Amino acid sequence: MKFDKIRLFLQTFQNRHASDKARSAVNLLIFQLIYLVLITITMGVCLFVDRGGRLAFYLLLLGGLGLSVAAGLAFNLHGSYRVSTMFTAACMIFGPWLSILLDPNVLAGDFVPLIYVGMSIQLCSILLNERVTIILATIQFGGLIAAILLSPALRTINWPSLVLFVVFTAVIGVLYGFSNNRQLREIEKQRNQLMIDETQLRELTVRDPLTGLFNRRYMEETLDREIQRAVRKQQPLSVIMADIDCFKGINDSVGHVVGDKTLIKVSDYLMNNIRASDVACRYGGDEFFLILPDCTLEEGLRRANTLRQEVEIMLFEKEQGEKLSVTLSFGVAALPDNGMTREALIGAADSALYSAKRAGRNRVNCER
Ligand code: GH3
Ligand code: MG
Repeated sequence: MKFDKIRLFLQTFQNRHASDKARSAVNLLIFQLIYLVLITITMGVCLFVDRGGRLAFYLLLLGGLGLSVAAGLAFNLHGSYRVSTMFTAACMIFGPWLSILLDPNVLAGDFVPLIYVGMSIQLCSILLNERVTIILATIQFGGLIAAILLSPALRTINWPSLVLFVVFTAVIGVLYGFSNNRQLREIEKQRNQLMIDETQLRELTVRDPLTGLFNRRYMEETLDREIQRAVRKQQPLSVIMADIDCFKGINDSVGHVVGDKTLIKVSDYLMNNIRASDVACRYGGDEFFLILPDCTLEEGLRRANTLRQEVEIMLFEKEQGEKLSVTLSFGVAALPDNGMTREALIGAADSALYSAKRAGRNRVNCER
C-alpha cells in the first residue's frame, strides 16, 4: 500500500518533467534529499563538537545551504529541472568557498575547508555536463591556489601535497561521474530507440505493406471498438466495402506491376479523402473497407457515391504515358439499420457490394 503511494508519487513527479529529463529529475530528487539529510547531520555534529566562535557562522552557513537545496527541491517538484539543478550546483560550489573566504580561521591556517573544494567538483560532475564541470573545476583550482598563495599562514603547510590530494580526489570523482553520466545517456538513447522500434513494429503489424492502408486484422479490432462506442453514445456508424471492377482484367492485360500501382493509387485516394476519425483498410486483394464513425446510412451512401464519381474520372498510369480508367463498386451498411455486430455490418456491406456488381458495377448499393 505504502509502495503504491510512493510509485504513484514518482509517476506524478515524472509526468511534470519532459520525458528526456524525467529519469534525471528522479536522480536529482534523491540527491537533494540525501544532501538535506547530510546538511542536518553536519549541523548536529557542529553542535556537539566545540567549534568555539565559529559555531554560529557554520550553523548560519549550513542553514543557508539547506534552504537553497530545499528551494532547488521545490523547483524540482514543480517540474523545473534546470533551475533546480542550478540551485543545487550553486550550493555545492558556494558552500566550501563561503567557509574558505568568510571564516577567518581558514586563512589563518585551518586548511580542512580547502579539501571540500574537491568534493564540490565531484558533485558538479554528477549534476552538470562535462564542459561546465571542467570550467568550474579549473576556476576553483585556480582560486584554491590563489587563496593559499595570498595567505602566509596557509603557505606554511605542505600545500603542494594538499592541492595534489584535492586535484586527485576531484579527478577520480569527476571521471566516475562522467562515466556514469555517459552510461546513463547510452541507456536513455537505447530506451528511446527501443520505443521507436516498438512503434514501427506496431505500424508494421497493422499496415498492409503494399498500400500502407490498415490491414484486415486492424479493421476488425477497430470496428468492434467503434461499434461499442457508437452504441454507448447512441450514434450511427457506417461501413463501406469497395471493390475494383474487373481488376483481374487489368492484371491480365497490362501486368501485375501496373495492377499494383493501381491498387496504391486507389488506396492513396481513399486515405486522403476520408475524415481524420474514419479508418481505411485493405480488406484483401482489390477490396477496401472504410469505417465511418458518427455517419448515418444516408450519409454513408452519399459519401460512397462521391468516392465512386471521383475515382471514375481519375486517370491511372498504364505504360509509356498511356492512361487507363478504373471504377469501383460499393456496398454500404450502417448501425443500427443493418445490425449491431461486426459480422452483421460486414455481411450486409458484402452482400450490398455483390448486388452492385451483379447490377452492372460502378455503383453504390445497400441493403434496406
Ligand atoms: P469484379 O469486378 O467482379 O471484382 O472482378 P475482378 O476482376 O476485380 O475480380 P476479383 O475482384 O475477384 O479479382 C481480384 C483480382 O485481384 C485477382 C487477383 O489476381 C488480383 N490481386 C489480388 N491482390 C493483388 C495484388 O496485390 N496485386 C495485384 N496486381 N493484383 C492483385
Ligand atoms: Mg474486383
